[in-house]
Amino acid sequence: MTDEGTVRKVDELGRVVLPVEFRRSLGLDPGDGVVMNLEGDHITVAPQHRKDVCSLCGGAHELFNHGSGAVCGKCARAVGKKASK
Ligand SMILES: [Zn+2]
Repeated sequence: MTDEGTVRKVDELGRVVLPVEFRRSLGLDPGDGVVMNLEGDHITVAPQHRKDVCSLCGGAHELFNHGSGAVCGKCARAVGKKASK
């Protein structure tokens, strides 16, 4: 760690290893997708929100599109109940 953040070197193929603590914080597992964007003079890397599983429980039944990801009916009802109280 430095004042600028975690420093990693780019290899000859352009690869950079994401620090394990970042992967753990974001719940990134091997095989998960990330979305990269060039923003001016820096690159952002964010977990890819999957539309084939619920972003809250990982379930795949009764899915609804929600933002850039998906939420299942059970979680949508649970969130709706909390929101209406
Ligand atoms: Zn769910």
